[in-house]
Amino acid sequence: MLPSVISSTPEESGKILAYESIIAPQSMTNLQSLLLILTRLRSAVALFVPVALVAFATHLLPQAVLTSSSNFSSAGQGSQIDRVQHVDLLMLHGKLVDGSGNKPRTADVGIRGDRIVFIGDARKEKFKATKTIDATGLVVAPGFIDPHTHTLGDLSDEKRKGNEAYLMQGVTTVVTGNDGGSAQNIGATLSQWEQQGIGTNAILLAGFGTIRGKVLGPTDAQPNAAQLEEMKQLVARAMDEGAFGLSTGLYYAPQSYSKTEEVIELSKVAAAKGGIYDTHMRSESAGLLEAIVETIRIGREAKIPVHISHIKALGPEVWHRSAQAIQLIKQARAAGIDASACQYPYTASGTSLQASLVPRWAEVGGRRELLKRIDDPQIRPRLIKEMEENLKGRGGADSLLIADSPNREFVGKRLDAIAKEMNKTPVEAALELIKLGSAGVISFNMNEGDIRRFMKEKFVTTCSDGSTGHPRKYGTFTRKLREYVYNQKLISLPFAVRNSSALTAETFRIPERGLIREGYFADVIVFDEKTVADRATYEQPELLSVGMKFVIVNGRVAVENGKYTGVLAGRALRKQVAIKGP
Ligand SMILES: [Zn+2]
Repeated sequence: MLPSVISSTPEESGKILAYESIIAPQSMTNLQSLLLILTRLRSAVALFVPVALVAFATHLLPQAVLTSSSNFSSAGQGSQIDRVQHVDLLMLHGKLVDGSGNKPRTADVGIRGDRIVFIGDARKEKFKATKTIDATGLVVAPGFIDPHTHTLGDLSDEKRKGNEAYLMQGVTTVVTGNDGGSAQNIGATLSQWEQQGIGTNAILLAGFGTIRGKVLGPTDAQPNAAQLEEMKQLVARAMDEGAFGLSTGLYYAPQSYSKTEEVIELSKVAAAKGGIYDTHMRSESAGLLEAIVETIRIGREAKIPVHISHIKALGPEVWHRSAQAIQLIKQARAAGIDASACQYPYTASGTSLQASLVPRWAEVGGRRELLKRIDDPQIRPRLIKEMEENLKGRGGADSLLIADSPNREFVGKRLDAIAKEMNKTPVEAALELIKLGSAGVISFNMNEGDIRRFMKEKFVTTCSDGSTGHPRKYGTFTRKLREYVYNQKLISLPFAVRNSSALTAETFRIPERGLIREGYFADVIVFDEKTVADRATYEQPELLSVGMKFVIVNGRVAVENGKYTGVLAGRALRKQVAIKGP
C-alpha cells in the first residue's frame, strides 16, 4: 500500500486516511512511533468526522459502514467462524491469477458491496451468496488498468460513456489526459463523470500541453518567471482537484518548444503532491535514447516517478535499439529512480498525419500559421524536404494508412495510393490532406523483435493508447493474452496479468486496486483462456474483444456471459494527498 495517497470516493477516504496515516516508518523508535500515531490519529479522527457527516448527508453512510465492516469479516478469521456468512457475489472454483505474479491456484472469491471480502474455500468457510458464478475452467483475475487512453471524450459522451471497448478487454480502470492533453478543469470533469455515470473507473492526469497552451498559447515562447509560476499554480490546482500526476507529450507542439528545465519545475509541483510523470517523449525515433535520458533526468531532478508512454523504437533507422533503451531504464532504476514504461502489442502506431510528418517549427503559432507556411513559396521547399525525411524515417508512404479524415474517401487508404490518385508526390498529397483538416494516421513503423523485447521487462505495463481507427483501442489487452501468452508463449499468464493490473496500480499509485485481495475494491474479471482474443483489425478497428465472461466493476456486474449489461459502475477516482507527518 502506498503511503502518500488515498482514494477515492468520500465514503472510503476518511477511513483509509485514518488507517494509512497511523502507519509509521519502520526506522522510527517506538516512542517516536507512538507519538506519531497519537498525533495522526487525532488529525485523522478530526478529518473523519466531517467526511462521515458529508457521506451521511449524501446517503452514503450505509455503504461506508458496509465497506468498513466487510474489511473485518474476511477469511483471516475463517477458522473461528461457524455460522453462515453472506456475500453478494461468489465466484466458485476459478483459476485465480491474483495480479501478484504468483502462480495460479484454485480459489473462490467473494464480494460484498464494492469490496472483495473473501478468497478461499467458500464451502468450508460456509459462505452463501445472493449471486453465484461458476468459474470452473475460467481464469479469475483483477480488472485490468490501462494507463494511457484517449477516452476523455468517450467518457463524457452520452453514447460512449459505458466504455464498452475497454470493458470487453477486461479493463476496469482507465487513465486519460495523456500526451499532455487533458481536461481544462480536472475537478469539473471528474464531477461530471460522477453525475452522469461511467462504465469503468477513470483517472485524469494534468496535461502539460493544455497548461502551456493556456499560459503561452501555441507559440514557441519561453516562459518568464511569472508565466512559469502561473503554470506551476495550474499543475498544483489540477493535483488538488484529483489528478494523479502530470502528463507530457514533448513530441507535440507546443510542448516540444519547452526546455527540460521547464518540465522539471512543473514536475516538482506534481511530485510534492504524490503525483507521477507520464510522458510521450520528445522522440521515439532518431532521438529515442536522448529522450529516455531526458525523461530520467526529469525523474532524478524533480524526484518524481517517471513512466514512458507506449515505449517503442519508431522507424527502421532505430529498430533494435530497444536493447539500449532497456539498458538506460535499468541503470536509472538501479540508481534509485522510479522509471517504468508501458506498451501496446502492435507494430503500427497511431497519431495525426500532421504530427507524424510536419516539423515542429512549421507549427509555431498554430494551424493558421502552418497553413500560411504551406503555401509560402519561400518556405514550402524546406518544409517539403524535411517532411520527406520524416516520411522516410517512418518507413515510406506505403507505411501510412489514413484512419480518419474530414473527407471520408481517403479513410482506409495508404498515402502512396492517395498520392497516385492525386497525381502528386506523397508529401504533397499529405499537405493536401492536412489542409482539409485533422487527419488520423496508422503508421506501420515498429519491429516485432523490439516489441517482444520490451514486453518481457518487468517494468513494462500494458497500455492501449487507444485512438480512432486503430485496433489497439479495442484489442490491446486481449491481444497480449491471445498472441503473447497463449500463441507465442513469450510471457506467462501471471506475468501478463500483473503487468496489466497490479504493476500499473503500483506505478500510478492507485490504492486498493489491481490485485485480488481481501479488502480491495471488487474490480474482477473472469475469462476463458480458450477463447479470449482481440477481434479488431486495421481494416475493422472497432470489433469488440471476446472471451471476457464476467467483468465486475466496484462489485457490480458490467459484463455478464460476455455481454455488456449497460451498468455504469465506474468511479471517477480522485487522488488525495494524505496528511503530512509532523
Ligand atoms: Zn502518445
